[in-house]
Amino acid sequence: MNHDPDCIFCKIAAGRIPSRKVHEDDELFAFHDIAPWAPVHFLIIPKEHIVTMYDTGEHHAAMLGRMMALAPRLAREQGVVNGFRIVVNTGPDGRQEVQHVHMHVMGGPRPWLRG
Ligand code: AMP
Ligand code: ZN
Repeated sequence: MNHDPDCIFCKIAAGRIPSRKVHEDDELFAFHDIAPWAPVHFLIIPKEHIVTMYDTGEHHAAMLGRMMALAPRLAREQGVVNGFRIVVNTGPDGRQEVQHVHMHVMGGPRPWLRG
């Protein structure tokens, strides 16, 4: 599995930088966002270092599907029962700041800080 030793999300997935973990399996890692926009805001990432959604292909379809399927399950576990938003920022115009694919899952009662 490809990793980048300088990537902050690779370090989080490897436990080398602390995070508030929500979920871990052999392929995916989920943790609370450090600057939440909503009462519940966590990120789901692949453990593999993939820079952006542009770098995914057909062979990533199962993993991406698992990320999507995990979101409602983890949201419910975090007490989010009235809806949530999924965002995957991609590239400069998508305002992607961390260069490792991540899915934002945001939910909880309104109002939110942003989003
Ligand atoms: P994006 O603009 O989609 O690249 O968002 C990156 C997200 O990662 C932002 O919402 C940050 O608050 C979040 N983030 C950055 N560093 C950390 C960290 N060490 N732990 C948790 N979340 C982080
Ligand atoms: Zn990475």
